[in-house]
Amino acid sequence: MSSPIEILRSVFGFDQFIGLQQPIINNVMAGGDCLVLMPTGGGKSLCYQIPSMLRPGVGVCVSPLIALMQDQVQGLTQMGVRAACLNSSLDPQDAWEVEQQLVSGQLDLVYVAPERLCRPGFLDLLARCNPCLFAIDEAHCVSQWGHDFRPEYMQLSVISERFPGVPRLALTATADEPTQRDIVRNLGLERATVYATGFDRPNIRYAVQPKDHPQQQLLRFIRESHPGDSGIVYRLSRKKVEQTAAFLEKNGIIALPYHAGLSKQERYRNQEQFMRGEGMVMVATVAFGMGVDKPNVRFVCHLEPPKSLEAYHQETGRAGRDGLPASAWLCFGLQDIAILRSMIESGEADEARKRVEHAKLGSLFAFLETAGCRRQALLGYFGEHTAPCGNCDTCLNPVETWDGTVAAQKALSNIFRTGSRFGAAYLAEVLVGKTSERARRFQHTELSTWGIGTELTLEQWKSVYRQLAAFGLLTVDMEQHSALTLNERSWTVLRSEREVRLRTDPVIAPRSVRARGP
Ligand code: ADP
Ligand code: ZN
Repeated sequence: MSSPIEILRSVFGFDQFIGLQQPIINNVMAGGDCLVLMPTGGGKSLCYQIPSMLRPGVGVCVSPLIALMQDQVQGLTQMGVRAACLNSSLDPQDAWEVEQQLVSGQLDLVYVAPERLCRPGFLDLLARCNPCLFAIDEAHCVSQWGHDFRPEYMQLSVISERFPGVPRLALTATADEPTQRDIVRNLGLERATVYATGFDRPNIRYAVQPKDHPQQQLLRFIRESHPGDSGIVYRLSRKKVEQTAAFLEKNGIIALPYHAGLSKQERYRNQEQFMRGEGMVMVATVAFGMGVDKPNVRFVCHLEPPKSLEAYHQETGRAGRDGLPASAWLCFGLQDIAILRSMIESGEADEARKRVEHAKLGSLFAFLETAGCRRQALLGYFGEHTAPCGNCDTCLNPVETWDGTVAAQKALSNIFRTGSRFGAAYLAEVLVGKTSERARRFQHTELSTWGIGTELTLEQWKSVYRQLAAFGLLTVDMEQHSALTLNERSWTVLRSEREVRLRTDPVIAPRSVRARGP
């Protein structure tokens, strides 16, 4: 019988195991459970593929992604591995054949969609074919706290109940503490060894800009830092996806839209084109990307922030899988803070869940507003501690911070004086005393806050308001045209019970965020 390293060399054509592959495989071979936390591209697949080939019986991999399953199976069969998949894309005849292969012991590895695995009939069938391991890919989908929750994953607890002695591996590229706890609980992994290779992606350069004219900013970023490169641009809504794709096309950049509103065929066509093509930009909602394995994606841009640092880490992680320099670039403004907060509020989740989502969003905003190293902030969220990286915008162009307590007090009392009915742009005008028809009509020129902020510019005041919103020191009322309002925490600032440290937004200098050339 061969050993794992022999299989690695003779079947997969690699010399050495990388990262934690060897100890993981050893543990599975010995019948142990594993929780594998490895970044995308870290080599998770071999961790269950090799044991499936070596252990008697069939390995079962649960994956939510049909396209990815098919790619994997195709790759494996080309190398002579006896693998197949079972999902909704197979016609009944083909599915029947795969099931026959399964029962007659002709397969080393079968990929199954979660909903199919959990059918009672299928579990009975599996019980007859001696499963040798269960690999649960994209295991974070089991967590309700996660950004990719899939209800069908909840039923996977049936695996540990039906097949208690069979080793289980849960694999994921992104899981913070609460998500990890859910994975352990729902998949019965209390006794699993945890393997974490670190979440850092050193070749990705992180940069964040305040939002001004997002599409123009994006265009400038692509032209200056990534002309002719492949990249992904995330937007929050279908409409914005369409707009931005059209905008890029108009400006000479090949761009394809991707969102759930397109037909299946269109989505498939665009994805195929992007995967095979060079120098194309995929403009997409989060519907795009899970399982996307294009090694030379050179940049991932967000024109709206995602919902959590987990989502951010996963989405930006699609850049630079080949290890060459790549960029993660994001721009955001006060409006985004308001929209993301109100999406949570208007959602159907219960109060406990909403609290967790708000907290996750808060961590994300802190990352976006940090004056320190972005990588430190990002990895810190996953419990990893590192030195400043030298490869993010704040490391390359250190950001100054200043004691913004007085400015924050002026900004907040201005909200109060004007009756909590106005947005940041107009509030900034009041602070610098910019006369306008509106100011005269509301007699704001008579207010005590009129013109008390001439030490800062309009842009700087808008930055102050954005940062206060990001820190939760004021609330943006979406029902009232994004009017800024005070909350309990605002009063701690107004009563001088806390200091407010603010960052000086750098003047947007696209050259300074240029990615290192290969
Ligand atoms: P993940 O599932 O963690 O995103 P994959 O399993 O798809 O990662 O592996 C990422 C890439 O690394 C693949 O192209 C794979 O062929 C390659 N790879 C995996 N293990 C090794 C190894 N031991 N030596 C060299 N390359 C490897
Ligand atoms: Zn850094």
